[in-house]
Amino acid sequence: MNQEKIVVIDFGGQYNQLVARRVRECSVYCEIYSYRTPIDQIKAMDPKGIILTGGPNSCYEEGAASCSRELFEMGIPVLGLCYGAQLMMHVLGGYVCKAPVREYGKIEVTVDRTSKLFGNVSEKTICWMSHNDYIEKTAPDFRIVAHTADCPVAAAECEEKKLYAIQFHPEVLHTQEGTKMLHNFVYKVCGCAGTWKMDAFVENSIKAIREKVGSGRALCALSGGVDSSVAAVMMAKAVGNQLTCVFVDHGLLRKNEGDEVEEVFGPNGPYHLNFVRVNAQQRFYDKLKGVEEPERKRKIIGEEFIRVFEEEAKKIGKVDFLVQGTIYPDVVESGLGGESAVIKSHHNVGGLPDYVDFREIIEPLRNLFKDEVRKVGIELGIPENLVYRQPFPGPGLGVRIVGEVTAEKVRIVQEADAIYREEIARAGLDRSIGQYFAALTNMRSVGVMGDERTYDYAVALRAVNTVDFMTAEAAEIPWETLSRAANRIVNEVKNVNRVLYDCTGKPPATIEWE
Ligand code: GLN
Repeated sequence: MNQEKIVVIDFGGQYNQLVARRVRECSVYCEIYSYRTPIDQIKAMDPKGIILTGGPNSCYEEGAASCSRELFEMGIPVLGLCYGAQLMMHVLGGYVCKAPVREYGKIEVTVDRTSKLFGNVSEKTICWMSHNDYIEKTAPDFRIVAHTADCPVAAAECEEKKLYAIQFHPEVLHTQEGTKMLHNFVYKVCGCAGTWKMDAFVENSIKAIREKVGSGRALCALSGGVDSSVAAVMMAKAVGNQLTCVFVDHGLLRKNEGDEVEEVFGPNGPYHLNFVRVNAQQRFYDKLKGVEEPERKRKIIGEEFIRVFEEEAKKIGKVDFLVQGTIYPDVVESGLGGESAVIKSHHNVGGLPDYVDFREIIEPLRNLFKDEVRKVGIELGIPENLVYRQPFPGPGLGVRIVGEVTAEKVRIVQEADAIYREEIARAGLDRSIGQYFAALTNMRSVGVMGDERTYDYAVALRAVNTVDFMTAEAAEIPWETLSRAANRIVNEVKNVNRVLYDCTGKPPATIEWE
C-alpha cells in the first residue's frame, strides 16, 4: 500500500518526536530520519513534504549538522523549524549568526496572513522560541512573513519553490496556533489528503499479518501493559488460535491486575487464542528474599521473567513468529530512526531473545506513537480500563517497595495503590495526571490507633506530570483528595500508620521509588 508520507529530518532537536506526532495528529503519516540519511533514500520514499527539525548546533560552525542544497531543489515542499530554518537559509545563501538578543519562551509573533502557513492564524500570536542564533538575512527569493520585537525573521518563505522557514517551534503546545500552521503546511502546501486513520491502519495491519503468518504459529509474551495487549489482540484478530500468549504473573502486579488480564485474554474472554497464565508469584518472592539493593532486584526480576517465559516456550516448541509490542519511540530512541543519541537500549528493539526457537519477529505497533497505540486499542474493542492504563514498570511493584520485597509488603502497596487510584478517579483526575501510584517506604514509626500503640509502615503517594518521562514535576493534587486517600489507606490497609506525599520532581528524584 502506498501511504502518503511526510519525512521529518532530525538534526538532534529535543522536539523531534513531537513534530512527527503533530503531523500524524493531522491524519498524515510521517517518519523520522537522521540528517545523515542519503538524499537518494529520501527521494525514493517519495514524500509529500519534508520537515527539518531544530537542533543544538549553530549551522555556520565547522562540523555542524548539515544537508545538501539538492534537498531544496527536488520540488518537494520543505519546512524548516528553528535550526532547520536557519540551515535552509544558510545553505541557500542567506546569513545566520549569533542573535544580539536570544529568545526563549513564549513570545508574541506578528505574522503575515497572506502566507499559506498563516492564513487562518491571528495576526499576533503567541509562539514558543528557543534560539541563540537568528536569520539576519534571508536567502535570495525569500520573503519575510513573520517577525517579533527582537527577531526580524521569525518566518520566511519562497512560495514558488515551496520552501518555508520558521524560527519558532509550532510543534510545541505553547505555540498557541502551532497545530494550525503544521496543518496548513501538510494540507495547503504539500497537498496531503489525510489518509492516516486508525481504522484503516487496523484493517490493513490485520490483513498484512494474516498474509505473513499464513498457517504458521506465533508466540507473544503478555505483560498486561498497553502495548503488549494491543499487539496481542491485533494478532488474535488476524490469526486466532495460531497465536499463543504467555502471561507471567510475577506477583508484582497492581491489585487484581492478573485476573483482569485473564478476563480479557483467557478462555472466557472474547478472543480465540491459546492463553497460558503462569502463576510464578512464589518463585519471584523466593528469589527476592533478603535482597535490598535496587539494581539487583531489577536484575533478578528481569532474569527470572525470562527463565519462566523460556520454560513455557520450550513446552510450546518451535514457533514461526515471536510477537513484540515495540512502538515507534522505542525505535527512534534506540538510535534506529532519528538523530537522538541512544538514550536507552530498549529490550524490545534489537536484543532478540535467543531462548525461543522462532523464525521471525513481528512488531505490529512498530510505527505507532503511544497515543496511536491507544486509539488502535479502542478501535480493536479492548476495554478502556486496559487501553488507558498508566505506564507500569517491567519489574512492577518491585521498584515501588524500598528495601526487601515480601508478599506482605506487596499486599500493602497493592491495597494502598488501589485506594489511591480510586480516589484520583473519583476526583476526575485519572486522565489528566501523567502517572500516579502508591509506594512503600522501608520506614516504620510509632503511631496510635484505637488507643493502642502501633509500629507500622509509611506509604508514600506519588503523582507526576511529564511530557516525556525524562523530566517530571510533582502534580498539585487537591488537598481534599489527598487527605481522603490518606485517611482511607490508614483505615483500610493493615500495617500502615502514616501516609506521605512526594513533592519532588525529576530530577533530582526519579518517578519510581526504589
Ligand atoms: N542551535 C540553534 C540556535 O540556538 C537552533 C536552536 C533550535 O533549533 N532550537 O539558534
